[in-house]
Amino acid sequence: AGEIQAQDVDDLKVHMPLCMEHLHDELRREKHTRHGGRMQYGLFLKGIGLSLEQALIFWQTAFEKQTPDQFNKNYAYNIRHSYGMEGKRTDYTPYSCKSIIMNNAPGSGDHHGCPFRHFSAPNMRAQLAAHQVDEFDTEDIMRLVSNKHYQVACTRYYEVTRAKMLGLSGAMKGGGLSGGEEMVASQELIEHPNQFFEQSYLLMK
Ligand code: SF4
Repeated sequence: AGEIQAQDVDDLKVHMPLCMEHLHDELRREKHTRHGGRMQYGLFLKGIGLSLEQALIFWQTAFEKQTPDQFNKNYAYNIRHSYGMEGKRTDYTPYSCKSIIMNNAPGSGDHHGCPFRHFSAPNMRAQLAAHQVDEFDTEDIMRLVSNKHYQVACTRYYEVTRAKMLGLSGAMKGGGLSGGEEMVASQELIEHPNQFFEQSYLLMK
């Protein structure tokens, strides 16, 4: 993938899984993100091709209430650190679904985590409705969630929403996947937020 510019990120939201879309929306709303969210979302953005230079622009622009001095003092080090440019120079990689689901559960006021795992059922349903997931698919996804099959639920969400984006959904509900959904069915389980993004990005190209 080519390099992504800080100002491209809003347009790329459409390819993001719910966990990252949620972090992005809350960042725009609050003009801030707590540490857990900065790590989860920042490393994801690094994974989709945001360079260190662009990442510093992205976060500084997003945290608009911070003066440049405050930003440098409070946040720039951590961002450079996550790109392996400070401290032990570990080049951190984006978190996998398993790690997001199992580790560091979000507390109140946090927006990191996996919506399928960490949202309440009513909140999850509201998210699905906001993405025009119909009743049949919503029940399917909620059943997977209540059986703790979070990544399978995310994979179903991927199929349903990408089919809609391609204008392929509709027909044959109740008989398994519709023709359109079969076309975008991501043969593989979603195991990584960056996998979700890359598949969606390539599909829509
Ligand atoms: Fe994100 Fe993975 Fe959860 Fe999907 S299953 S929302 S990609 S953490």
